[in-house]
Amino acid sequence: MEAATPKKRFRRKKKICAFCADAIVNVDYKQVEVLGRYVNEYGRIRPRRQSGTCARHQRSLALAIKRARHIALLPFVAD
Ligand SMILES: [Zn+2]
Repeated sequence: MEAATPKKRFRRKKKICAFCADAIVNVDYKQVEVLGRYVNEYGRIRPRRQSGTCARHQRSLALAIKRARHIALLPFVAD
């Protein structure tokens, strides 16, 4: 009997944290080109499941993005 069981066609590729890979302890809020990779087209911080950043670096990254926004390096909202 055929049950509606979805096949596991979309296997997740194992992501590694880019900051761990580069041995970066704290994310630098002045590196806009780095931070820019972790915000989406609306200027929002991309979730960990998309970026593959580890919990520690995601926290550090979020803080860095918020600092960068405060000093107008990154937009709060992009249109
Ligand atoms: Zn990390």
